[in-house]
Amino acid sequence: MSQKDNVRVRFAPSPTGPLHIGGVRTALYNYLFAKKHNGTFILRIEDTDQTRYVEGAEKYIHEALHWFGLHTDEGPDTGGEFGPYRQSERKGLYAKYAHTLVEKGHAYYAFDTPEELEEMRARETQQGNHSPKYDANIRMSMRNSLTLPASEVTQLLEANDNVIVRLLIPTDEIITIHDEVRGEVSFSSTELDDKVILKNDGMPTYHLANIVDDHTMAITHVIRGEEWLSSTAHHVLMYRFFDWTPPRFAHLPLILKPSGKGKLSKRDGAKFGFPVFPIEWKDGEEIYAGFRDDGFLPEAVLNFLVLLGWNPGDDRETLSIEEMIESFSLDRIVKSGAKFDIEKAKWFNQQYLIATPTADLLPIVTKTIESKGIVQSSDYISRVIELMKERVVFIDDFYESAKFFFQEPTEFDEKIFKKKYKAENAVHFNQILTDLKELDSWDTDAITATVKGYIGDNALSFGAILPILRVIMTGSMQGPDLFPALALLGKDIVTRRWETSMTKLLSGLS
Ligand code: GLU
Repeated sequence: MSQKDNVRVRFAPSPTGPLHIGGVRTALYNYLFAKKHNGTFILRIEDTDQTRYVEGAEKYIHEALHWFGLHTDEGPDTGGEFGPYRQSERKGLYAKYAHTLVEKGHAYYAFDTPEELEEMRARETQQGNHSPKYDANIRMSMRNSLTLPASEVTQLLEANDNVIVRLLIPTDEIITIHDEVRGEVSFSSTELDDKVILKNDGMPTYHLANIVDDHTMAITHVIRGEEWLSSTAHHVLMYRFFDWTPPRFAHLPLILKPSGKGKLSKRDGAKFGFPVFPIEWKDGEEIYAGFRDDGFLPEAVLNFLVLLGWNPGDDRETLSIEEMIESFSLDRIVKSGAKFDIEKAKWFNQQYLIATPTADLLPIVTKTIESKGIVQSSDYISRVIELMKERVVFIDDFYESAKFFFQEPTEFDEKIFKKKYKAENAVHFNQILTDLKELDSWDTDAITATVKGYIGDNALSFGAILPILRVIMTGSMQGPDLFPALALLGKDIVTRRWETSMTKLLSGLS
């Protein structure tokens, strides 16, 4: 099959909660694969299980994809000729496929009540079968169209009470899937249960809806998480029963806990900044912020995610979305689980902040600054960005680590002050301030020359003067280069802080 142009892939989330990191990675890989092959990237909302439906979750999915720039070619909001793209709106389509399988002898009606199923499980467990399932061993002792007389079946179907359709799994057969990531994967049909494909309310289950939609939407490649691998055995059987050509499958490796021990659970994930943005519905008592609101740039998160299970075939670590598209291929997706390391995500964010032009950061940083009730000119904020860029991890840090640019410091590193302040240098501090006040041009070079010149002329040490200046101006020993910071703060603020902060700190010494 030619992979050019006719590639059609889909991201098919169920709206059961916020979109998490694994889902975003699946969306990203599908997107990259589609773009690489001039194909079509489709969003399909798999919302047939009304009991798990969460209000607002679909909106969350759309907003998250939008924030990441993973724009869909077809989907509930973009439209397309294969719609509707929400399974609940395709409800009427599925039943006929289930009935077709019954007619072909590959599926059957089952009438067991929940109590009867419970009894079966209890009976089996008692007899030592610890994972009882509705399968070849069990089906002939249950109430279904394989065991009941035809007249009773007709009656039960007419009454339409508790009628479901189950897949008839063939006995003793090895089902082999060719997975683009794992190669040949085989399942014995004895491991498979007779999955329900149509429920009593006429709604399909995930399995039926998923393959009917993949077929009718002409999906060529199914790229999804490894947790769906075992369902694929059922899926390829259904393709065979329908006489349809299955798409190609690629199952993405698990995302592991930071320790590497075990799969990353949603709960762990939330703890490590897992959702895209705040979970508005509560998980116990906690509400997690998520990547967007923690100050990650979408491009940095995508870069972090693309390498969770794939590599470009060389040692590049930072890749733009265009480079990802250019280098992407299914054969470099790895089988083994990928460790989720939030420190790595932070590193990427830092690299992206450094690489982003100040003008592009300006509106985002301005928003953060304004959210703190501070108004500053664009020129001033741009200069703060320039000075802080190499030192921040998150957008918020442009405020959090640089508060002294916007407000008087209220906390000081008193330990350093006590250690470094010598009373005999008071006269020098006063003189340096006087010299600075007399400067005609207030810029980094002039300030540097004045302070350093004074220190040199008076045979003082930098260590006796500069840490004190830094603490009184900024509150702490961390931060950007001192002289450009003083230049930006301006003469008035520097003079005022010199007096107020010095007075405060000196009073702490007595
Ligand atoms: N609805 C499934 C999910 O929530 C889709 C799995 C698939 O891609 O087939 O992940």
